Amino acid sequence: MNFHVITLFPEVCRAYTDASILGRAQKTDKGKGAKVRGKKISVNYYDPRDYANNKNNKVDDKPYGGGPGMVMRAEPVLKAWDKAVGRKKDQKKVKTLMMSPRGKKFDQKMAKDLAKKYDHVVLISGRYEGIDSRVNKALKVQEVSVGDYVLTGGELPALTIIDSVARQVPGVLGAFESLEDDRSDAGPASSEFYTRPAEIIYKKKKLKVPSVFLSGNHAEIVKYRAEKK
Ligand code: SAH
Repeated sequence: MNFHVITLFPEVCRAYTDASILGRAQKTDKGKGAKVRGKKISVNYYDPRDYANNKNNKVDDKPYGGGPGMVMRAEPVLKAWDKAVGRKKDQKKVKTLMMSPRGKKFDQKMAKDLAKKYDHVVLISGRYEGIDSRVNKALKVQEVSVGDYVLTGGELPALTIIDSVARQVPGVLGAFESLEDDRSDAGPASSEFYTRPAEIIYKKKKLKVPSVFLSGNHAEIVKYRAEKK
């Protein structure tokens, strides 16, 4: 799976996608057994400023018809999209998502569908008041919202989507992590987890791990978790 993020703040996003599980998934895995396994995902960034083609690399301008705030210019975003996926032969494998508080609400099903159906997911992050609407018209975009609140930019929504789609890509989660659906004993609603030590003291209170977890009785643990769902 290849992600392409169009954003004015690539470095902010890269810090996140290069860390931990997503970071590992972008590397050629030469893990134990010397079996070279390929990269599972790539995350590519495109800064509209690099495609602004004017003196000050200006990416925003005043809205036609007045109103507060600035609007991101269409051309730098369209050029960034061209650079990202414009030349891909199989455009059916390309999906373009426009981050928007008015878009379709993102959920786990969308994450799974994206991972299954596409090779390239382009995520366009707006800033200021948003992006010139001609981008939506020129490209076949789907507007996506991560929730009923308004953020200052589309970067966190884009990262949210990348994170949840990437963990549906086979091989991204390692042996020690696992997809909720693959587990027999702990679905996504399994809400209780503990690790050592079995007892901690916080503000003079003893906080113990429920004894069932220390029992080693797997069936009892499964039952306990099921009841807590
Ligand atoms: N005034 C604009 C909001 C701009 S928010 C309006 O009413 O639509 C600036 C940018 O942040 C948006 O272009 C979008 O890309 C992103 N954004 C903000 N909230 C979001 C949300 N809940 N989901 C997805 N993207 C969001």
